[in-house]
Amino acid sequence: MTPAPLALADAAPAGLAVRTHCPYCAFQCGVRIGEGFGTDELSVSGDPHFPVNNGELCIKGWTSAALLGHPRRVTSPQLRAADGSWQAASWDQALDFVADRMRDLRDRHGPDANGVFGSGALTNETAYLLGKFARVALGTANIDYNGRYCMSSAAAAQNRAFGLHRGLPFPVADVEHAGVVLLAGANPADTLPPMTQWFDRRRRAAG
Ligand code: SF4
Repeated sequence: MTPAPLALADAAPAGLAVRTHCPYCAFQCGVRIGEGFGTDELSVSGDPHFPVNNGELCIKGWTSAALLGHPRRVTSPQLRAADGSWQAASWDQALDFVADRMRDLRDRHGPDANGVFGSGALTNETAYLLGKFARVALGTANIDYNGRYCMSSAAAAQNRAFGLHRGLPFPVADVEHAGVVLLAGANPADTLPPMTQWFDRRRRAAG
């Protein structure tokens, strides 16, 4: 089924292009959301003034607006009913449910029974708040980020090579000034297309 476009009137005043970030990976490409990119529907374009991607996006970023009006998009919290079906719930109901379950787990198994996952897409401020929530509100030592799933092999390699791991331990613009770039087991042209402009710049600079 073709997703119904989200009317601009539902999202933002007509003509307003909002500058924000693609939510899908930690590259966090700058995007503009609004009208005027070739269609009357809400659409996305790369932000040419954001210094990481300079207007480029991968297919996930380019198609991100298509999900906004999809009829199967989940737009409210869902709680599973006794018969196994999902039922829409208010935010108060959903948050009370989660809080009750976390309290119950803590009471029965101790504070470390709860854990939280953050994300490479969190801002510094929300990452700080998540850490406070985990350590102060929940009292758990178990806090990690989603990169534990998708970056564990890279993290293991960085730990062995450098003694610590960071997803991207330097500004991406540094690639343009690198003396040597070694890509092993990676194909950023396929998996992170907005990154390749920095390799191209380096190649052009080298003549
Ligand atoms: S590389 Fe693709 S998925 Fe990642 S932030 Fe940029 S557009 Fe989004």
